[in-house]
Amino acid sequence: LNAPKLFDLSGRVAFVTGAGSGIGQRIALGLAQCGADVACLDRRTDTGLADTVGMIEGAGRKAIAISADVTNRASMDEAVARTEKELGALGIAVNSAGIANANPAEEMSEEQYQTLMDINMKGVFFSCQAEANAMLKHGKGAIINIASMSGVIVNRGLSQVHYNASKAGVIHMSKSMAMEWVDRGVRVNSISPGYTATPMNTRPEMVHQTREFEAQTPMQRMATVDEMVGPAVFLASDASSFCTGVDLLVDGGFCCW
Ligand code: NAD
Repeated sequence: LNAPKLFDLSGRVAFVTGAGSGIGQRIALGLAQCGADVACLDRRTDTGLADTVGMIEGAGRKAIAISADVTNRASMDEAVARTEKELGALGIAVNSAGIANANPAEEMSEEQYQTLMDINMKGVFFSCQAEANAMLKHGKGAIINIASMSGVIVNRGLSQVHYNASKAGVIHMSKSMAMEWVDRGVRVNSISPGYTATPMNTRPEMVHQTREFEAQTPMQRMATVDEMVGPAVFLASDASSFCTGVDLLVDGGFCCW
């Protein structure tokens, strides 16, 4: 066994949703830095997708930018087909596209509930369906869904019943698909980040709240996006060949307290 080679992604093709910002953007670059060519998908091309592609090309790998909405099943099938046509057989997928917002449960409108559920849960499901339909044909693949510690605990002081439920759904959906595909070479795992410094959390109006997030976290700080790369590379690579249906908490100890 050549241990360092376990994390080598040379020759692999990856597909990352939500790659225009935050965690998805950093993981897309991290996969490329480990050798993968990467298809980068986001719903808007002006949210940083061009930057992601530029950074990956700067790292010496191929990248394509795909503008699509994860809630549109046909678009996700098309996106995966384009990835395989332009980059080769799909081997790795990271589903990071998601939104967050808050409102007291008793006041939340159907629209607010439904829009978030559509993106955070149905979007992850459609992404996995499209990705697995390609991977099952090859008999090999690793899918990583970005869930959240909010799928495990309830964030103190945040009224976001729909978000918390969507992330619990992503964790269990990942385990369910992992078991459906376990005998056909496709692994499905999730990563559950704790509070992470991304545009989702670093808006000016969040300054007070992010201080509280830091104080509540046993490590006394938020994660950087860099700290999501190692867990993602682990789950994408042969280093995790016996892991499927796992939810990997990357939360600075949050869920221990
Ligand atoms: P972000 O806002 O920086 O990035 C999310 C990206 O997803 C954006 O580029 C956005 O355009 C894209 N996106 C949103 N809806 C989409 C859609 N319908 N179709 C295609 N793309 C879409 O946020 P982030 O912090 O990087 O979050 C990434 C994931 O990590 C999310 O699923 C989020 O819930 C999860 N997460 C974040 C934190 C945190 O503290 N930042 C903690 C736990 C989990």
